[in-house]
Amino acid sequence: ATDPEQMFKVGWLADVYKERPEKDVVTRFPPEPNGFLHIGHAKAIAINFGFAKYHGGVCYLRFDDTNPEKEEEKYFTAIKDIVEWLGFKPYKITYSSDNFQKLYDLAEEMIKMEKAYVCSCNDTEIKLQRGGEKGAHERYRCAHAEQTAEDNLQKFRDMRDGKYKPKEVFLRMKQDITDGNPQMWDLAAYRIKTDQPHHRTGWDWKIYPTYDFTHCLCDSFEGITHSLCTTEFIQSRVSYEWLNRTLKVYEPMQREYGRLNLFGTVLSKRKIMKLVEEKIVRDWDDPRLYTLIGIKRRGVPPGAILEFINELGVTTNATALPVHRFEQSVRKYLEKTTPRLMLILDPIPVVVEDAEPADIEIPFSPKDPKMGSHIVKFTPTIYIDRSDFREEDSKDYFRLAPNKSVGLLNVQYPIKATSFTKDPETGKVTEVRAVFDKETKKPKTYISWVGTEGSKKVEARVHNQLFKSEKPEDVDGGFLNDINPDSEVIYRDAIIESGFDEVRRRAPWPEAAGESELGKGGPESVRFQAMRVAYFALDSDTTEDKIVLNRIVSLKEDAGK
Ligand code: ATP
Ligand code: MG
Ligand code: MG
Repeated sequence: ATDPEQMFKVGWLADVYKERPEKDVVTRFPPEPNGFLHIGHAKAIAINFGFAKYHGGVCYLRFDDTNPEKEEEKYFTAIKDIVEWLGFKPYKITYSSDNFQKLYDLAEEMIKMEKAYVCSCNDTEIKLQRGGEKGAHERYRCAHAEQTAEDNLQKFRDMRDGKYKPKEVFLRMKQDITDGNPQMWDLAAYRIKTDQPHHRTGWDWKIYPTYDFTHCLCDSFEGITHSLCTTEFIQSRVSYEWLNRTLKVYEPMQREYGRLNLFGTVLSKRKIMKLVEEKIVRDWDDPRLYTLIGIKRRGVPPGAILEFINELGVTTNATALPVHRFEQSVRKYLEKTTPRLMLILDPIPVVVEDAEPADIEIPFSPKDPKMGSHIVKFTPTIYIDRSDFREEDSKDYFRLAPNKSVGLLNVQYPIKATSFTKDPETGKVTEVRAVFDKETKKPKTYISWVGTEGSKKVEARVHNQLFKSEKPEDVDGGFLNDINPDSEVIYRDAIIESGFDEVRRRAPWPEAAGESELGKGGPESVRFQAMRVAYFALDSDTTEDKIVLNRIVSLKEDAGK
């Protein structure tokens, strides 16, 4: 088994700590509250919260809410819940917007230091100042850079007071245009935005700070020791350091790690939005999506996600993996942590003519005695899966057929089919008759079965890949042309054995320690291995009268693809 703290002990994260071995580590996870988080964000959460935890420090959950256009209440709540579901407790929940006044005051200070100016150049002009297409000519500053501090201060206050229209002017930092790094070419610090109220500050502000101005300063205010972000911010490290140094405030250390992406799915908000709008998926938490709320609903335990990330390790390289690589980790995790039950997806009744009702004790796990056992009632009529019976026997077939014997899991004797009946209209087998076969001691195959006592009808949703190809984005006509028509197969008359009640009552099982500690176990924490079928979890569509299950993953890599 992998050491759960492996990623902090060796490799990139260990080196980052060595570079700055603070006694009191402070980190932050800084999502924009403009959408639901996806599997990639789980890596950022695991890194930031995990790094702090490993070093005995603290981690903030900071909502980077500087863009009023895209923020909504439901995202704030969903993000907070998913961080907790992953087993982490934010030291404090903060908002970049809490600092709007402080940031504004620092912007004024910058102006007074002659390190910022109000500029009215348009995009074309700015491009030229930055050297034009591919740096065709030399970089230069516009005349606004020569304005006096008093002039800039007046203009900036006019921006604040709504005397300009959006895009008319903006505040620029006066950095170093001779530096080779574009992040030093007088970046924007403040822009005018007046269309929408801000989620938390309403109509108070008509100007909003940019990421480049906000992020490093908020990190500084919170005393972040190690500011860990993804590699697209490598170039920004220069401006990040420049601003804190220029303002002589506390200087955190920014370091960048590689993103985690899965292919064979889409992660971008815009694309998932399309899938939801077109009703291709049930919602943002559809089990076929790789949003964290989708993965959660599907029944993937938080521990499996963390183990997956830990196994991959952290470096500066981006990791791109096919979705089945993720499923492989989940399978491995479930294998050792879930109780086993019998579930029949497409049942046909088998009348075992010489059978008597009997109680059979079955362990929840063949490997882990701590999971205990339960009693299953064998009844003269049992259900087996349609796929485990054939009307005509053949040599290379080892399940039930007329005159052929097959073992029943945990039952002493195999059964042998004697006859069967069919519905004349549909041609489907409606009943099989059988007897115990007391001669055959070791049948080639054992199949699952469910008795009629204590078992229940359930709806089982078997999810397959949502897309047909590994690169849905590259398909002609776009990802919407790549939808797998069989991405959700529903078995409405599936039957689960009686042991399900106990599995449900005892959930979450010990493996999901993080969950149970936080008391966050929802329906999805009712997980089990349906022997010879797949791993399943209870779906949130379950009601008093109807049990709905989701397939988490198949038992083996290729099954059900
Ligand atoms: P997206 O565009 O997919 O929403 P983002 O970078 O805009 O991603 P943020 O809300 O800013 O999303 O993300 C919060 C944190 O999560 C950031 O520090 C970001 O670097 C990190 N993050 C986002 N996507 C990934 C990913 N695929 N792998 C690792 N970390 C990620
Ligand atoms: Mg972002
Ligand atoms: Mg984002």
